[in-house]
Amino acid sequence: MRITGVLAAAAVALTSASPLAAHGNDDALAAFAALFEESAIVSGPELVDCRLSGGAVTVCYKITVVPGETVKAGPWCPRTITDGPEVSGIWFDDGKVYNADGAFVANLPEFYGDPTWQLHDPATGHVFVTDNQIACEAAARPDVDPAYRNHCVECLTSYIDPGLTRTYIVPIAPVEAGEPQRLGEAGGAGLAFDGIMLGPPAPVEAILGSHTLAPFDDCGGHVNPHVGYHYHAVTDCQIQIAAPNAHAPLIGIALDGVSIYGQLNADGSTPERLDVCRGHTSEALGYHYHVSGPGDNQIIGCHSHQIGCVSDDPDRPCDATQRRPPPPR
Ligand SMILES: [Zn+2]
Ligand SMILES: [Zn+2]
Repeated sequence: MRITGVLAAAAVALTSASPLAAHGNDDALAAFAALFEESAIVSGPELVDCRLSGGAVTVCYKITVVPGETVKAGPWCPRTITDGPEVSGIWFDDGKVYNADGAFVANLPEFYGDPTWQLHDPATGHVFVTDNQIACEAAARPDVDPAYRNHCVECLTSYIDPGLTRTYIVPIAPVEAGEPQRLGEAGGAGLAFDGIMLGPPAPVEAILGSHTLAPFDDCGGHVNPHVGYHYHAVTDCQIQIAAPNAHAPLIGIALDGVSIYGQLNADGSTPERLDVCRGHTSEALGYHYHVSGPGDNQIIGCHSHQIGCVSDDPDRPCDATQRRPPPPR
């Protein structure tokens, strides 16, 4: 399914001259297209010229998706301190996943050792929730509106900008970068096959620093009205495509064109010799990433290769050496 770096590089070099090479790229495009949930796709995928973050000029896949159309998002915030996990989302701390239910919310002062936490009304047990779009946006911005301190932040899919699309432009073959690149400034780790962004780490320090909680649903996702629904963890919700030899399943494509696989192999074993980005090389799959555990607040560690582009303008050509918009939270 995945063309190797060497083959892909040869195909790129020969595209204009050789019908055979062009055919190779077409096959790769068809294989790429087949990975995605059709209802998430607005247009593409197609092959376009692109300029990657390190300046490399190459051929990229371009795909435009609707972020959040295909998934059943939520729930996130409990409404009372007696609400259970079935009507609440999750929270990460120190590598662990917690149910962000009523009991968790009530226990926040103890959990974080900070009596300033008071996310519910002690008289009624009702949880303070940002229950409209204005509140969601005021609480979700980096400088949280003081009125929404001690709130559970919840943004609904109905708050997503109408007509919002996200266009991903990623190299058909990864191109070496001088050094690993942090996630975040380019729209996260990559794209899952349901059209949802595999996000950067959530800014947990900033969220907790203003005594807010911004839970993820049980799929590890939540909503930013301007970015759409996005994942901060890989759980069993994402589309998984079986890989050969009981290797972990394929779950997405990174912005540097590297394939992203699940955390564990089919027999439960942990992939070995992962680099700082959580990548390693195998004979069957070439260089690829494995995702972190769902509580780690990182899907992969970094991008080890030059990244392409993510944009909400489907017509913008990809020049990843240009400045990018700030990352979502
Ligand atoms: Zn592997
Ligand atoms: Zn987020």
